[in-house]
Amino acid sequence: MDTSNIILVGPPGAGKGTQAIMLREKLDALYISTGDLFRSHLSNETDLGKEAQKYMSAGELVPDALTINMLSQELEKKSDDHGFILDGFPRNVVQADALSELLDRKDLSIDVVLFFNVPNDELVRRLSTRYTCKVCQAPQNINQSEGNVTSKCNLCEGELYQRNDDAPEAIKRRLDVYDQETKPILNYYEEQNLLTEINSVGSVEEVFTRVEGALQ
Ligand code: ADP
Ligand code: ZN
Repeated sequence: MDTSNIILVGPPGAGKGTQAIMLREKLDALYISTGDLFRSHLSNETDLGKEAQKYMSAGELVPDALTINMLSQELEKKSDDHGFILDGFPRNVVQADALSELLDRKDLSIDVVLFFNVPNDELVRRLSTRYTCKVCQAPQNINQSEGNVTSKCNLCEGELYQRNDDAPEAIKRRLDVYDQETKPILNYYEEQNLLTEINSVGSVEEVFTRVEGALQ
């Protein structure tokens, strides 16, 4: 299990990011989240960050050329004795093809694609109550009607903020983009016998138990 190469796919709000953090503690693999990378470019005010922001705040995908280039540089950090976890990449078939070329060249392959599945109405509910840690980027849900109002990250005590792509209009656009662009990669990986579906409804711990089961 230590050298597995894993891809995490799912609609925005499926809990992918939360599961990724738990997985990463367990596996000691190179973790790459393209969303986190873009957000860190943005906070460092790089040219790439400024360019990406135009798309991100509208809920659109950042153009493939920029995204693939960034991913490919990041993958260079992989050492031989560790696997990788890709979170949020690929997000369309062009990116999936580019990834398989990149991996071929490095003599690497994908072991499993975990598909985090959640019904649509639940996604909207989760995204509109989602806050993100400024320090460690961990997503967490804050439901003011349940009274659990806190402004600190439950992992690192960092300050929480609401991402501007978690505003209602951008949420709707991101779900549409997911349906149109990202869903086709489920078939793509299914045909390669790499896809494993994880039911992502339930507590974080319940879902993680399913993830562990799938990786056995
Ligand atoms: P989510 O939590 O909604 O899955 P991410 O943090 O993975 O979101 O990504 C946030 C935004 O960053 C996306 O809506 C998109 O604009 C951009 N982004 C992230 N990964 C990719 C990718 N592989 N291709 C294009 N754009 C991406
Ligand atoms: Zn944190």
